[in-house]
Amino acid sequence: MKNFNPADNIQDLQYFGEFGGVNPSISDSSTYTFLSAKTMFDTFEGNMEGCYLYSRHSSPSNLYLDKALAAMEGTESANVSASGMGAITPTLLQLCGAGDHVVSSRTIYGGTYAFLKNFAPRLGIKTTFVDITKLEIVEAAITAETKVLYCETVSNPLLEVADIEGLAKLAKRHNLTLVVDNTFSPLSVSPAKLGADIVIHSLTKYINGSSDTVGGVTCASQEFIDSLKNVNSGASMLLGPTMDSMRSASVMKNLRTLHIRMKQHSYNAMYLAERFEKDGLITVYPGLESHPSHKLYKTMINAEYGFGGMMTLDVGTLAKANALMELMQAKNLGYLAVSLGFYKTLFSAPGTSTSSEIPLEEQIEMGLTDGLIRFSIGLDNDIERTYQMMKACMKELDIM
Ligand code: PLP
Repeated sequence: MKNFNPADNIQDLQYFGEFGGVNPSISDSSTYTFLSAKTMFDTFEGNMEGCYLYSRHSSPSNLYLDKALAAMEGTESANVSASGMGAITPTLLQLCGAGDHVVSSRTIYGGTYAFLKNFAPRLGIKTTFVDITKLEIVEAAITAETKVLYCETVSNPLLEVADIEGLAKLAKRHNLTLVVDNTFSPLSVSPAKLGADIVIHSLTKYINGSSDTVGGVTCASQEFIDSLKNVNSGASMLLGPTMDSMRSASVMKNLRTLHIRMKQHSYNAMYLAERFEKDGLITVYPGLESHPSHKLYKTMINAEYGFGGMMTLDVGTLAKANALMELMQAKNLGYLAVSLGFYKTLFSAPGTSTSSEIPLEEQIEMGLTDGLIRFSIGLDNDIERTYQMMKACMKELDIM
């Protein structure tokens, strides 16, 4: 762990374009020619290294990005996909079939929750949702049919922290695959180094960082990635959520500045979280000592990238949350929008947006309150100025 630095691993890769370009060439083809029919057959059978058949299976541009993301997460291999959900659903379907069972954190992205709760049962896959921060509760939910333990490093939207080392031990003991969605904490946390078997990202968020595309990735062993792409039985190959080459080339260019961006997102979020907490607002940020998992998270992170850019404030009621978000947008402090990782601050009330798939009574049980605003703090140059402007909005609406 000591010598593992995800950003250095990306930096250490060297790619050249076809004509000596400093960027790798984009493979603008869906299909590839062969000089002999025999090579085509062998490629189809998976026996030919370095030959390409058809871009739903793999393409040179996607393989460059796969390699960079595998280097970042410290896994043998990776497979990029057309969206984060396009990484999550094939991964789970590759691991589970009819009769199998998943133990999942109850505070996860609403789309993943809806897939496990509403869609997977149609295929005979059941899920028990648990408080992931309590290892004894997680273990008690494991049955003879359980195949997968699923969580997010830092959960959406409540920013709960999963004890990945503890969960990895549990997974080993019960012969389960630990799948971790690391979307909220790229570079800051390296789940595979803490014992996770599979690491997933929605590239849509921090990794791409420019809110111009959706994308996803599954980082895992070569064996698992090969199984996802198997022409006869691979969930990614057969369900077909393939990323386009043009897009993977563009995500790759943005990945190169991820380390600089993450440091600034973390710095700005920490700055605001400390001040709003001092001002008496209910503030949740893993970098604050008041966060229930702060001590644990401190031991998990690659410290130079900080505690991340996600923060929540509870302003009491949905009406106040909506008024504040509208006012902040009018003052150009950010955008009232879902998603995260943009250069501008993005804010939304998760109960009525990104987590609206979760039934109201379950939202209440997990502590997802009406007045909660989720912030993805931007790359603002002068964060004190931002703080003063946000505070003025809150004063105007009698929130503080
Ligand atoms: N995982 C997390 C933590 C997310 O927040 C999201 C989207 O908001 C996803 C996965 C799904 O990613 P995508 O929208 O790229 O399919």
